[in-house]
Amino acid sequence: MKIGFIGLGIMGSGMANNLLKSGFDMYVYNRTREKAKELESNGAKFCSTPKELAEKSDLVFIMLTDVGACKAVSEGKDGFLEALGKGKIVANFSTVHPNYSLELCSLVKERGALFLETPVLGSKIPAQKGELVILAAGDKEAFEKCTSAFEKISKKVMYLGDVPKASYVKVVNNEAFATSLTAYLEGLAFARKIGLDPEMVFNILNSGALANPYFEFKIKKVLANDFETHFSFENMKKDLGYAVSVADEFKCYCPTLAAVNEVFKKGLKKHAKEDMSAIFKVFDE
Ligand code: NAP
Repeated sequence: MKIGFIGLGIMGSGMANNLLKSGFDMYVYNRTREKAKELESNGAKFCSTPKELAEKSDLVFIMLTDVGACKAVSEGKDGFLEALGKGKIVANFSTVHPNYSLELCSLVKERGALFLETPVLGSKIPAQKGELVILAAGDKEAFEKCTSAFEKISKKVMYLGDVPKASYVKVVNNEAFATSLTAYLEGLAFARKIGLDPEMVFNILNSGALANPYFEFKIKKVLANDFETHFSFENMKKDLGYAVSVADEFKCYCPTLAAVNEVFKKGLKKHAKEDMSAIFKVFDE
């Protein structure tokens, strides 16, 4: 099976690398070509446009920032939509607005191809280790055809039904994750301000009900002043924006989401490219 992979950022590079190592015939495209160099030297073929990539591949996998990025590679004369037809499958791993996922699904299906939305749980290290969790929704036939590839990049794959169910779950996941981590970091910044050692406080909280391996990973880095990006601040702000929009659409009362979205808005200009855990600095500034 030939796989075309579009988007070789933090997540996409790890995922494409694992697919290549598993023996798939790989075609890759990234706006910034330099990021494809390592994959190319290991045997992946670089395509000069998303359209060329889709012409050469059976499966078109996408892992890009947001709705705008997905539009940039799908639409227009060089976009991958131009090359779709019967027998091709598109799977979008990017976290996008659920309404856009529905739109992309229609555009793909109008051309006779099959579509899956496949947002993922897990970050840079699970992507590198092939240990993501894939939430899939869309054509069941496409899901079955992609299973052998999905297994090489994940520890768990779940089929949830029709588009945009997986996008909804992803939005809820990031809402719950961002609000919880933000509350925890606010607590540690609060501790520091009232004269407590945040590391001592963390060690105590981490031995109680707040113990959680992912919080532990993130907070140990914060306490070591390490904000190297695993999941960027700007991407989490983007996901909070999607969550606010979905909450508005469904008239949901989500005051914690609204408050945390404001904190991310406050820090966006200064911390966009840092890890999302830089939210700690927003409380500390
Ligand atoms: P990233 O490192 O910033 O990579 C973003 C990718 O999108 C790059 O390949 C970038 O190309 C491309 N891109 C951005 N704008 C574009 C445009 N206008 N046209 C064409 N390409 C464009 O982000 P990431 O962390 O890999 O995240 C990718 C997606 O996964 C996002 O939707 C994110 O929310 C989601 N996600 C991330 C994590 C995480 O922990 N990092 C976890 C789960 C889900 P260039 O290289 O040219 O900039």
